Parts: sequence; C-alpha cells; structure tokens
Amino acid sequence: MTAPTRRKRPETRYDHDRDALGALLDQHPTYRVDQLWQGLYAEGLELEDISTLPKALRADLGELLPRALHERTQRISEGGETHKWLWGLADGDAVETVLMHYPGRSTVCVSSQAGCAMACGFCATGQEGFRRHLTTGEIVEQVIRAREAAKPRRLSNVVFMGMGEPLANYDAVWGAVRRIHGDLGLSARHITMSTVGVVPGIRRMAEESLPVSLAVSLHASTDELRNELVPLNKQYPIDVLAEACAGYVAASGRRLSFEWALIDGVNDTRDQATHLAELCRELRAHVNLIPLNPTPGYPTIGTPPEGVARFQRWLQDAGTNATIRRNRGTDIDAACGQLRASQMKDGGQSVAAPRRRSTR
Ligand code: SAH
Repeated sequence: MTAPTRRKRPETRYDHDRDALGALLDQHPTYRVDQLWQGLYAEGLELEDISTLPKALRADLGELLPRALHERTQRISEGGETHKWLWGLADGDAVETVLMHYPGRSTVCVSSQAGCAMACGFCATGQEGFRRHLTTGEIVEQVIRAREAAKPRRLSNVVFMGMGEPLANYDAVWGAVRRIHGDLGLSARHITMSTVGVVPGIRRMAEESLPVSLAVSLHASTDELRNELVPLNKQYPIDVLAEACAGYVAASGRRLSFEWALIDGVNDTRDQATHLAELCRELRAHVNLIPLNPTPGYPTIGTPPEGVARFQRWLQDAGTNATIRRNRGTDIDAACGQLRASQMKDGGQSVAAPRRRSTR
C-alpha cells in the first residue's frame, strides 16, 4: 500500500544509519562518525550534549539532523507505570507512543502510521482513517525517546502495537526493526510485530533473517464474524491467514500469539472459543485476552471480568494457553489511538492532568 500523496519529507535524525552519518561527515576524520553514532544511538544524547564533538560541528549537525518528534502532550498514569506521549510530526500530524514499566524492565509500544487504513470499527485509530506512513527515523526515534525516559530501567521490548498497521508500511517498519536490533541492541524475539493479518507482509517476514515475534490481531475465529470486526478478513480469510502464520512459525521458530479484544456479547461466546482453540492447536498459538477499551466511535463495551475469566477457562479446558492482559493506562487514554482522538476533540490543546476513563 502506498500513501495517497507522496511528498518528499526532509530526512530526520534517526533516518540516518551509520553509513548515512558517514556520508554526512565525509570531510571529517572517521572517528567523528563513531562519536556521533555513539552519542545518538548508544547514549541517546542531544546533539549539543555530545561532548566528544567540537562545538561548531554540533551546531552544524543540529541543522542537518532535526528531531522528528516534538512533544505535544505527555501523560503519566497514576502510580507512574504507564507513560504516554502524543508527538507532533514535522508536517503537523501527530502519533502516539506508550511506555510500560514492569519490575526491572520496560516495553515501548510504537506507532507505524499516522492513522490506519484497516478500518477495524472498534479501534480508535481505525475510526480516523489513513493519513500517511511513518518513516524509519520517526519509528526509531519513538524507541530512543522511550528508552531515555525509561532510565534507569532497561528498555527490553518493542511492540508494534501503536497506531497504524505495520505490515502495510513494510519497508520503513523493517528498516526500523533492523535499526532497533543492530544499533540499539535488542534481540529479535524482544521485538513484536502486531498485524491485523496482512498476509503478504507475514510471508515477507518469513524470508527475513531476523526472527521477530509475531502477534496476529484475530478477534474472531469464524470468517462471518471476522469480516465484520476486521474488514481485511474479506481479502485474507482465516484459512489463508493461518497458512501464512504456519509458514512464519516454521521459518522463524517463534511461537505465534493471537490478540483478542473481548467485546461484550460479540466475540466472547462459547462458539468463538471453540473455533479459536482449534486454530490455536493447529498453530500452537497462545492467546492474549484483553477486554475491549471503549472508543468514541464504537457503541459496544468490553466483556465484564467474569465473562473474560469464563472465556479464558473455555480456552484452557480445550488445551489452549490464554493470558488475560490488564488494561493499562486507561486513565490516560492509553488504548490505541485514544489520546490523539481525545486531543483532537479538545481542539488539540494540551491537557496536563490525566482524566479518568471508565473501562466499562
Ligand atoms: N494494526 C496492528 C497494530 C495496532 S493495534 C494490529 O491490528 O495488530 C494493537 C492492538 O490493539 C491490536 O490487537 C488491536 O486489535 C488492539 N485494539 C485496537 N483497538 C482496541 C480497543 N478499543 N480495545 C482493545 N484493543 C484494541
């Protein structure tokens, strides 16, 4: 898929890999490239703080390597375990990044597109429609900003579960995966690609040398229901998707996981659990259950806790491994696309204090 209008944007700081930094500094000794790379990638410094570089050079580089992300809003949940940013981009658009802290380590959830063309009705980003792809630099910078904010905790995992469909922006996303692995030192299995089921992208991933983890946002185990919840299913129905997943599991050796947002009275039925368990057996997949987060454009609510527990039990009784994930940061609009949606509604003004949202 390509953007409807392809404007040439100036490259930003983290669009430059080591070779591109070398080209930028071709009039300088090569150790300057190492110092610049070290400052930007290994230490996550601001250019003016890379003290190994001469002052005049730092100033010049400031012009040549602009940041991609400008903080519009930042919110930290009560207790401080979830940290969310709304970033303004150079062209005026905005995307979100969420950082989640666990004991001793942190995970960042990054956006891959501004908006999304997949049109899943229950998703706040899907409700907005597609605006443009993010560049590799815009994705990598989300990881670096989060890594710096996480300190002294170690940023151990990157998940492509923010705004957008990563496999619809394959080249820029895979460029970021390579950078996150090679320049930031995260192992491939600690990088998770989450997709609605873009089959050509899953097949391409199977050809790559980095075996990242794959999560498929399934949400329904029959084509009839999945066509409704995830419109892309009409193009790549469940059996075609399952075959691509099997190919990926065989090629990568990674365990597959299915994401399942439980929607009250819609996909929390016995019948859905039965078909899901069959699929999981075939693919040796694990299920992550999460009650649906309310969004402005979707009238249905998340399954109440007893329904979530029942659905998990049905899966477990059928031999399927299923984990209930906590809804994190609902007090700071941390569900996919919610912060941007609420900010646009508020006229784009910064709201400093977290607003409470009910999860029901
Ligand atoms: N497009 C990719 C990645 C972004 S969405 C994908 O679909 O996988 C990340 C996850 O959040 C997906 O599993 C998505 O289905 C889920 N999600 C979207 N809206 C949600 C909501 N309102 N409540 C709970 N989960 C939601």
